[in-house]
Amino acid sequence: MRVVRTVAELREALRDAPRPVGLVPTMGAFHEGHLSLIRAAREENETVVVSLFVNPAQFGPSEDFGAYPRDEERDAAQAEAEGVDVLFAPPVDEVYPDGFDTTVEVGGLTDTLEGDPAHRGAEHFRGVTTVVTKLFNMAQPDRAYFGQKDAQQALVIRRLVRDLNIPVEIRVCPTIREESGLALSSRNAYLSAEERERAAAISRGLRAAEETVRAGERDAAKVLAAARAELDAAQIDPEYLELRSADDLSPVERVNGSTLLAVAARVGRARLIDNTMLGGT
Ligand code: AMP
Repeated sequence: MRVVRTVAELREALRDAPRPVGLVPTMGAFHEGHLSLIRAAREENETVVVSLFVNPAQFGPSEDFGAYPRDEERDAAQAEAEGVDVLFAPPVDEVYPDGFDTTVEVGGLTDTLEGDPAHRGAEHFRGVTTVVTKLFNMAQPDRAYFGQKDAQQALVIRRLVRDLNIPVEIRVCPTIREESGLALSSRNAYLSAEERERAAAISRGLRAAEETVRAGERDAAKVLAAARAELDAAQIDPEYLELRSADDLSPVERVNGSTLLAVAARVGRARLIDNTMLGGT
């Protein structure tokens, strides 16, 4: 595995690399969720590039950019063990050199849920879509791999490549969970043992909603109430718990077709998000 830090080195490493090339964008602090994306990329491509970049542009001023877990040595060892060909770990000024002054913004999908000004805000997604566009241009992959854990992000990136005709196939991989149901996240490192147990109620809420739909309920308020009861029992007050169209994130009154149940909640110092698809065909 080659570890490269500049765009020039990345381009050089990929110049004669066999195609297809699969790219897995990450912020590091690898867990099984990241590794599942890397394995999918390894299976489907001749060359696998993993980017490791804690992107300051997607963190708000009051968020955890400084505290975000970083362990490049461990990440590199895990990437190597998974058969990654190139690890691209640039410093911030390689991605955002002096005078950098361009952003890429997807409308509509980015001002709600995570993008709501009361939560992370649209600037968060502007930071994501700008860096992802840059990574696509830097690595020019044939495919790129993202997790369903960040369902809104995956939708936004699909819209980005569609609207800008970026020739990358977007692959979205299932959410990997602990045995308790807790979705793996680098931010789980912020949880104490007691908080980790409490946080499992988030996925219990999602499962309760799934059960309710499976039993025939379609009314959004009732499906949400089933999820809310699990959160209440663990004294978790979500930032949002919402049913949305999985196509455009518009609110739904009834679970019909593909409906996304999305939740964000603080547990201790960790801000956690999770989701499930309800009523899919
Ligand atoms: P991050 O390093 O948190 O930016 O995540 C990098 C990629 O891994 C993103 O596409 C995430 O959606 C994905 N990811 C994060 N957690 C999980 C998980 N538990 N299961 C599957 N994919 C995940």
